[in-house]
Amino acid sequence: MNVADSRRLASALEQMGYEPTLKPEQADVIVLNTCVVRQSAENKAIGRLSSLRPLKDKNPDLVINLMGCLIGVRGNTQIQSRFPWVDVVSPPSDPEPLLTLLNERAGKADEQASVAETNAVLDGDLVLPKHEQGKLVSAYIPIVLGCSHACAYCIIPSRRGREHSRPYQEILQEARSLARQGVKEITLLGQIVDRYGLDLPEKPTLAALLRDLSEIKGLKRIRFLTSHPSWMTDDLLDAVAELSKVCPHIEVPIQAGADEVLRTMRRGYTAQAYRDLIGRIRTRIPGVSIATDIIVGFPGETDEQFQETYQLLNDLRMDVAHLARYSPREGTYSARKLADDVPEEEKMRRFRLLEELQEEISAEINARYRDTTVAVLFEEQSRGRWRGRTPTNKLVFVESDRDLLGQERDVHITWTGPWSMIGTLA
Ligand code: SF4
Repeated sequence: MNVADSRRLASALEQMGYEPTLKPEQADVIVLNTCVVRQSAENKAIGRLSSLRPLKDKNPDLVINLMGCLIGVRGNTQIQSRFPWVDVVSPPSDPEPLLTLLNERAGKADEQASVAETNAVLDGDLVLPKHEQGKLVSAYIPIVLGCSHACAYCIIPSRRGREHSRPYQEILQEARSLARQGVKEITLLGQIVDRYGLDLPEKPTLAALLRDLSEIKGLKRIRFLTSHPSWMTDDLLDAVAELSKVCPHIEVPIQAGADEVLRTMRRGYTAQAYRDLIGRIRTRIPGVSIATDIIVGFPGETDEQFQETYQLLNDLRMDVAHLARYSPREGTYSARKLADDVPEEEKMRRFRLLEELQEEISAEINARYRDTTVAVLFEEQSRGRWRGRTPTNKLVFVESDRDLLGQERDVHITWTGPWSMIGTLA
């Protein structure tokens, strides 16, 4: 979400005449787009913010904008008194406060009109920032903003606000405009992406959106994330299976394998319902790859309950598991009501056990690709190697002198590991 928001803002700034610089000391405007989903992300944002102070001391005209979840949709009144060198704060996905300030400073006679003009750019026809034009292969399109669930540990609803879907036509317009600018792959984003359209008057579905997006010329691949076990419909799974441009890759978090923990987390499903869903996904989408998220050390999680998570991961053999150690986030139900009672060393022990297990599973699944030929969409070249992904989202490296940027090519896989593969052009 933040990558997409930052790109949008960079585009708007360029429309106003700004150019990017790699050196902070040369900048007239610095935007810090923040994430606070885990304590470590928040610490990083605060650290970076503190490091900007000397620049502001040297150049009082520098505009520092703090954006994103550190501010939240309700604003953060303390932040500017704590960090007085911040000039303007913006909620997530909302560039307007910064653009208004810059227009004011530029002495634009009709600020309303110029903000409206810039927002028109923001609403559908996204013009890629110059440094990405002709180079960006894969882009994110947020389609559901905010979240109205209330998982006990999660800070997102309080920071990104209530769930709301972007208008259907606006998304199609943005995807067409990205395809015209050379983008080959789009990833539709939502905290619960499967809930797309439920709040819109015509109740369009994600499945219908995937069908219409598939018609766009130039687009080769479409992905979406993140799904929620309670909201994945068969209609959606069938659309993924039917539409050749929609990649057979599903990101659907379980978070914990014990029902008691899932209940305390307020996730709204049981471990058995999740197992059934994974079975359904695999039956309806042959060859699908599936990723999950797991939090270890949630308040009250016993060793037996952790073992249930371990067993579930061992049984379901997911392609990827994103693992996290629980950290209480201020303003969440679990931070207010539940004691963070699993010691850090124990959280780390559980984390490592799952990490080792997943490494073994991912290596085993990826080994099946050895000596096969897969379609790889190449995204960038670094240190002499091209890097791309299979439709199932496996990372593939290929050595080649040719310009493969944005090309989808058949690759013969010669080596596989748990996190990536190596191949040669077929
Ligand atoms: S569904 Fe996802 S984003 Fe929404 S509250 Fe739960 S974990 Fe957070």
